[in-house]
Amino acid sequence: MDWSCAALLAQHAASAPGAAAVEQELTAVTRLAINLSYLLSAALFIFGLKMLAHPRTARIGNRLSAFGMLIAIVVTLGDRHIVSYWTIIAGIIAGGTIGAILAVRVKMTGMPQMVGLLNGFGGLASAVVAFGEFLWSAADPSKTPRIDTLVSIGLSVLIGTVTFTGSLTAFAKLEGLKFRGIVLSNPFVFPFQHWLNVGLLLLTVLMITFVTRNYEHALWAVILLYLIAAALGVLVVMPIGGADMPVVISLLNSYSGLAAMTTGFALDNYCLIITGSLVGASGIILTKIMCDAMNRSLLNVVAGGFGQEASGPGSTQAATGLTVRKMDAEEAAMVLEAAQSVVIVPGYGMAVAQAQHSVAEMAALLEKKGVNVRYGIHPVAGRMPGHMNVLLAEANVPYEQLYDLSINDEMPQIDVAIVIGANDVVNPAARDEPGNPIYGMPIFEVDKCKTVMVSKRSLNPGFAGIENPLFYKENTVMLFGDAKKMVTEISQQLKGH
Ligand code: NDP
Repeated sequence: MDWSCAALLAQHAASAPGAAAVEQELTAVTRLAINLSYLLSAALFIFGLKMLAHPRTARIGNRLSAFGMLIAIVVTLGDRHIVSYWTIIAGIIAGGTIGAILAVRVKMTGMPQMVGLLNGFGGLASAVVAFGEFLWSAADPSKTPRIDTLVSIGLSVLIGTVTFTGSLTAFAKLEGLKFRGIVLSNPFVFPFQHWLNVGLLLLTVLMITFVTRNYEHALWAVILLYLIAAALGVLVVMPIGGADMPVVISLLNSYSGLAAMTTGFALDNYCLIITGSLVGASGIILTKIMCDAMNRSLLNVVAGGFGQEASGPGSTQAATGLTVRKMDAEEAAMVLEAAQSVVIVPGYGMAVAQAQHSVAEMAALLEKKGVNVRYGIHPVAGRMPGHMNVLLAEANVPYEQLYDLSINDEMPQIDVAIVIGANDVVNPAARDEPGNPIYGMPIFEVDKCKTVMVSKRSLNPGFAGIENPLFYKENTVMLFGDAKKMVTEISQQLKGH
């Protein structure tokens, strides 16, 4: 129902005689109030999203959006004819308990998997609600569902189910699960795979068309649609390597929004349409940002295979006889305090070691000694967008100290770059080796600094599985060990000097 409809109803109710007219008028007024509340929620979501774009306003933006969602939930619950309160309370208790347990237990490094699962369940919820709407429409012979409602139901089942099984597959890949000895994170490809996917997609179009024409006898078609969509979700994600899963998860997040949006059309629910569109659009924008940060097209990501030919740890060393130079915490502290400018480049290893507080303490000690300390934050450092920003904000690192890739221009003038658990985002092969799987991905060119210190536990490659020539450069020294332990030791040395 739209605003003009509500106004028409109110007008019509006013002209009808007796109690029925009063009731109709009340219904129209209630509808109008519900839709106005949804409009308020939508405005809060949009302002909240806008504020999320800047670290300073992100917290308040998050609260604003959450408040918008609270309004939407309360208003929807007040719309009594939806479902019994007992069913809703049982759902809230069951879902809330599972969600709370998962949220408390998840480690920071497991967040991408968690987000993947949440997207999947969002998609499933949309598909199930759309199915309910279909059964309700088909069971009531007095009503003929509109064609756009039936198309929306079909699309919701399709996109929601693809999102569900695709997200479960992405989860399995990120967790590094095995099936009958097969490591699921490896790309899984077979001949004519893409043609099979196209064929299945065409079949779904046929099913949806059938549903719109024979909805009373289309239960089998909807069930078949579920099954084909479930297979498509798995088939589309299977050929993509584990290294690309964060991008896939962002894309599936967008799909879960589209599924919610189509369900919104099926139910004539404005709030769901707006929220779904916002999730769909922001998910696509995020996916684009991530692809740009890796200098890859979305098609290249979805076609799969990235990270397939991972070189073994230290294979450059074995093949060329190159060696690395090591340094301990005491020597590192001496080099650092003699520097005038230092850039800290954190990566996934900082999250694993939970070293952000120790890093912030080391930076503060260096600043006290007159060293100019800045941080280089790569857009895809870590395992999810903004991963490093979140960790450093938690350690109260001032936002002004964070720099993006534009700091590369200053690298030759910087005395020391200290790389904390980062690997792919500082790999010079991305700049120097055409044909390398990560060639073209923008990196922090720390190898141009006078000295590079790399804090990690071994010579193992990073997420992309690519050997890193940075470790063997003449101006590089390795600080082997857990990042938190190493940085804490450096700070102790700095305090002692
Ligand atoms: P990497 O995965 O390349 O490297 C992380 C390094 O951390 C490892 O080489 C590991 O080496 C080290 N490490 C692990 N644990 C510790 C520890 N306790 N102490 C010290 N070091 C540790 O991470 P980057 O952040 O450099 O790169 C991110 C990767 O993820 C890129 O390939 C990027 O494309 C990909 N990606 C990220 C996305 C995002 O949104 N952030 C999205 C899409 C992809 P060792 O085992 O030797 O200690």
